[in-house]
Amino acid sequence: MEKRAFVTKEQIEEIVTKYPTPFHLYDEKGMRENAARVKEAFSWNPGFREYFAVKATPNPFLINILREYGCGCDCSSQTELMLCQAIGMEGEEIMFSSNDTPREEYALAGKMGAIINLDDITHIDFVEGILGKLPETMSCRFNPGGLFQLSNGIMDNPGDSKYGMTTEQMFEAFRILKEKGVKRFGIHAFLASNTVTNEYYPQLARQLFELAVRLEQETGADVAFINLSGGVGIPYRPEQEANDILAIGEGVHRVYDEVLVPVGMGDVAIYTEMGRFMMGPYGALVTKAIHEKHIHKEYIGVDACAVNLMRPAMYGAYHHITVLGKEDAPCDCVYDVTGSLCENNDKFAIDRRLPRIEMGDYLFIHDAGAHGFSMGYNYNGKLRSAEILLKEDGSAELIRRAEEPKDYFATFDGFDFFEKLV
Ligand SMILES: *Cc1c(COP(=O)(O)O)cnc(C)c1O
Repeated sequence: MEKRAFVTKEQIEEIVTKYPTPFHLYDEKGMRENAARVKEAFSWNPGFREYFAVKATPNPFLINILREYGCGCDCSSQTELMLCQAIGMEGEEIMFSSNDTPREEYALAGKMGAIINLDDITHIDFVEGILGKLPETMSCRFNPGGLFQLSNGIMDNPGDSKYGMTTEQMFEAFRILKEKGVKRFGIHAFLASNTVTNEYYPQLARQLFELAVRLEQETGADVAFINLSGGVGIPYRPEQEANDILAIGEGVHRVYDEVLVPVGMGDVAIYTEMGRFMMGPYGALVTKAIHEKHIHKEYIGVDACAVNLMRPAMYGAYHHITVLGKEDAPCDCVYDVTGSLCENNDKFAIDRRLPRIEMGDYLFIHDAGAHGFSMGYNYNGKLRSAEILLKEDGSAELIRRAEEPKDYFATFDGFDFFEKLV
């Protein structure tokens, strides 16, 4: 599928008069349409809720938009919980799916009434020790081990992953939790990442539904919800075909009717914790070409670097690039597109065919709306960029300012850099 930028060169030229590049830009219209489709895809399940994975895009302005479509939040740390608290989320609007969890994080999750999703059986005593008494609703994360395989060759390796409990531990945990007074149970699993296929959720659902039936029958625990977690992918590459969330919802519906309904479990709620699928395509890193270099290869240097988007450097991930204003120009040049870090992996693209790039051209780096800004860091003293919302009416709103040097130096308590710099 052809990948088009959701903004024009003219719009960017207007935005940069107020907010210089680089910045992350989010497409309000796109994210709303997608959130509405997700809601529709699971509307057959009255208890359905998408818990947006906050770590993907932890910006309260964006999360508040998703909330209009019924989304809660999936948190995994203290500051993510605090972000939810600050925007008035509480109780079962929040899922706390953490691992290797510090005491104070469980304490806060408990205080906020979030649903705690236990990553390990030893955490039962740990949480009880912190909260005094376990909440009436609790969830357990499942890891079946082995390989998880889909028919299109997509595969992941739960047997090698640190998360969740074994099948035996799930039964044991449910028995212990029930004895300790837990009344409503959930099951959660995340078995494959960035799956670009409509098959993943239905296949995962079958595995979890069958487990839920056995857990209910053998422990007497009331399974109230099944959480399919994240892992629904997006087509980063133009030749990939996007997932159809309506087909995915229907696929889960079929398995639900086949496995749960006949045994009287037709009241189980379906939860999801998508991050990438909710926001990935609706954010982009916008950056300007500032240098060209002709040595053994052709390089274009831009004003963003891997601290603004680390997926290419970290995973060798592909992010499509559109040179704004040259959407229909022939791709007759081959470039490495680089940032300025003193790291040779700081490249947004390697040997990429692109239209001829002039200095001052704006590059739109696609699919940076999830796990983009949020994976940012400060290596080389680089500062995090701004985040801007492109609203439905075409106007731009600053939803997080760019970091300034004072932010970078702010943690050296008692040492006033700026006094020394004047
Ligand atoms: C990261 C994460 C998600 C979101 O994953 P996506 O691939 O962005 O959908 C959901 N749940 C948990 C527990 C996670 O760690």
